[in-house]
Amino acid sequence: MSETVTDVEYEPVVGMECHAELLTNSKMFCGCKNEFGGEPNTRCCPVCVGMPGALPVMNKGAVEFVIRASLALNCQINPHAKFDRKNYFYPDLPKGYQISEYDVPIGVKGWLDIEVNGVTKRIHIRRVHLEEDTGKLFHVAGDDSHVDLNRSGVPLMEIVTDFPPDIQSAEEGRAYLVKLRAILTYIGVCDGKMEEGSLRCEPNVSVRPVGSNSFGTKTEIKNLNSFRAVFKGIEFETLRQGEILNSGGRVIQETRGWNDAKQVTFSQRSKEGEEEYRYFPEPDLVPLFISEEWIEQVRASMPELPDARRDRFSAEYGLSAYDAAFLTENRALADYYEQSAKLSGDPKSAANWMMGDLSKLLNSSSTEIGDCPVSPEALAQMVGLINDGTISGKIAKALIEEMYSTSGVPLEIVEARGWRTIRDAGAVQAAVDKVFAANADVVTAIIEKGLVAKRGFLVGQVMRETQGKADPGEVNRLIDAKLGLQG
Ligand code: ADP
Ligand code: MG
Ligand code: ZN
Repeated sequence: MSETVTDVEYEPVVGMECHAELLTNSKMFCGCKNEFGGEPNTRCCPVCVGMPGALPVMNKGAVEFVIRASLALNCQINPHAKFDRKNYFYPDLPKGYQISEYDVPIGVKGWLDIEVNGVTKRIHIRRVHLEEDTGKLFHVAGDDSHVDLNRSGVPLMEIVTDFPPDIQSAEEGRAYLVKLRAILTYIGVCDGKMEEGSLRCEPNVSVRPVGSNSFGTKTEIKNLNSFRAVFKGIEFETLRQGEILNSGGRVIQETRGWNDAKQVTFSQRSKEGEEEYRYFPEPDLVPLFISEEWIEQVRASMPELPDARRDRFSAEYGLSAYDAAFLTENRALADYYEQSAKLSGDPKSAANWMMGDLSKLLNSSSTEIGDCPVSPEALAQMVGLINDGTISGKIAKALIEEMYSTSGVPLEIVEARGWRTIRDAGAVQAAVDKVFAANADVVTAIIEKGLVAKRGFLVGQVMRETQGKADPGEVNRLIDAKLGLQG
C-alpha cells in the first residue's frame, strides 16, 4: 500500500474593498440628479459625460457624508484631503479618468467591531475616500454593447480594510459587510441596497496554512452584491486556492468575477499595477480644507450607531445579546421594534413576534421591514390582545397572517372572525367532557397506566374542539381536574 499524503489545511486572509453610492441629491461634480435607474442617458450633462473642457464643481454634501462615515468608522480625518485623477480607458468612463483620492483620503485609521459566534472582533480600516462612479455597460443580444451614463459621476465612497487583514473566515467577511451596511444606513449616507448596486463589495482573498502568519498571493473578487455572495465567494476562493497549492501549483494574482448561478469565481483579468493608472493631482479642483469646527459639527449631528443601540436595547428592554443584535441590524428594523416595544408595553413579546412569525412572513414575500403591511401600532395592539386575554397565542398566529395579508386592524379582524377567547367556562367544560368521552381509551391509559405524557393530546383535542379559542390555562386546569391530577 502506498503512503497517503496528507493535504495541508489552508485558512483565508481577507481584505475588503467596499463601494457605497452616497445619498446626495445631485452628482459629485455637477448638478445632475443622483438617483437609481431612469431612462438611459437622461441624467447627464457635459461634466458627467466627460466633455473636454467641462469643469467639475465639488459637491459639499458628498464630502460631509464621507466625514460622517469616517467618524462613524472611528477614523481620523485628514484636514487637507485632495483629489487625484486615476487614468484608464473603459467605455463606461468617457473622460478617460476617474476623479478619486489617492494618497490623502478623507478618513484614515478607523475600525468597526463584528460579532461572530458570540465573540467580538475588531476589524481595522485603512482608509475611507471619495470618488465618482462610472457609467454602466449593457451587453445586448448579438455583439452590441450600450452605455448608460446616468450613474456616471454619482458620488462613491470607498472603504478599505487595513493590512495585515483582520478578517479570517467567510463568516467574518460577511459579518463585516453586515455591520458596515448597518452603520452606513444608520447614518443615512447610503441606502445599502445591494441588489441595486448602491453597496458593492470586493473581497481580496489569499490563503495560508492554518496557524501560519505568512501571506499568500491574493485574488480580488469583483463587485459582489449580496451578503451570501460575499460568504460563498470567500469560501470558494479559499477552497480553490488551497487545492491549487496542495497540487503543487501557484496562485496567480488576478481579478476574478463571481458567477452567482454556478456559485463559482472565474478569472477576469490579471491585476493591473498602481503605476498603470498614472495617478496625479486633479488640476481642476482645489484641495479640501476640513476644519476642526466642521468635523465637530458633523460629530454632533451623528445619530445613535448600531452597536450603541444594540447595547441600549439589551439594557432597556431586557433583550438577549442575540435578539438585540438581530433587531438592530438595520435602522428601519430597530425603529420598528422600538415603536412596537413601547406601544405594547411588552418588549420581550414584541421581539418574539418580530423575530418569529413576522420575519417569516417578510422573508417568504421578500419584503423589507420598511414595506411591512403590519404597522408597529398593529403589532403592539396584537400583543395587547394576547396579554389581556382577548385572544390566545394560537389564534394570534392566524391573526398576524391575516394582518399581514390585509393590513387590517387586529381587533376588527378578531371580531369579524369570532376569534375572541371563550369566556364561558361552561362551554370549555363541555368541550372537555366531549373530548374525554370520545377518547376514553386515552383517558384510561393516563389514569391506570400513568401515561401522563398523553395528557397533551387531550389538551390539543380540546383546543381543536374550541377552534383555538379556549384559554389554554383554563383548558389545562379543567383537564387536570377531570383526571384528578391537580395538586
Ligand atoms: P490592490 O491595490 O490590489 O487593490 P490593496 O493594497 O489596495 O490592493 O489592498 C486591498 C485589500 O486587500 C486591503 O484590504 C488589503 O489589506 C488586502 N490585502 C493585501 N494583501 C493581501 C493578502 N495577501 N491577502 C489578503 N488580503 C490582502
Ligand atoms: Mg483593489
Ligand atoms: Zn452631470
